Amino acid sequence: MSGDNLLRYVDRILFTEEQIQARVEELGAAITKDYEKENADLLVVGILKGASVFMADLLKQIKLDVEIDFMSVSSYGSNTVSSGDVRIIKDLEQAIMGKNVLIVEDIVDTGYTLSYLVDNLLSRGAHSVKVACMLNKAERRVTDIQGDYVGFDIPDEYVIGYGMDFNQKLRNLPFIGTLNPIYYRD
Ligand code: 5GP
Repeated sequence: MSGDNLLRYVDRILFTEEQIQARVEELGAAITKDYEKENADLLVVGILKGASVFMADLLKQIKLDVEIDFMSVSSYGSNTVSSGDVRIIKDLEQAIMGKNVLIVEDIVDTGYTLSYLVDNLLSRGAHSVKVACMLNKAERRVTDIQGDYVGFDIPDEYVIGYGMDFNQKLRNLPFIGTLNPIYYRD
């Protein structure tokens, strides 16, 4: 696919690169302010693969000593329907006992993935577990999870770009857009 060809997958651009960067700066500033007062170490955990782009941008806006790690969990597979069955594909490389953990996720949809992750990390003895997510689809929520740092609220539409995929592609689009409905299947 050439660059222009990628655009045929996009229905509408929801957030431009500039809007995303401005919001990420605000989130980074809020996180910095909140954790400045804490004594415990901060571990920022990116959830692969969707949060990879957001994670890289957000980290640069957090002006604190932090460590980073990554987890990968199964969620949608290759289609667009969620399931409550969450499994860890790649785990953290370290123990998190006593640490402040900040999970970085691309989008909270039903909330199954994050509810599972928060419970799982708390059960390992983390001092605190908070969540930063770029997008929030509140009307789709099934569990009672809330993001602590939320980029943007969006309606119930399938989005692509800025790390978020369609069939494992389009993560490299620099903006966030809705998927052209002709490609949508569930
Ligand atoms: P949840 O467990 O909250 O239903 O879904 C979490 C995961 O589903 C997200 O981390 C993301 O990977 C995927 N997801 C949910 N909605 C969308 C969407 O609109 N577009 C894309 N590309 N992925 C989504």
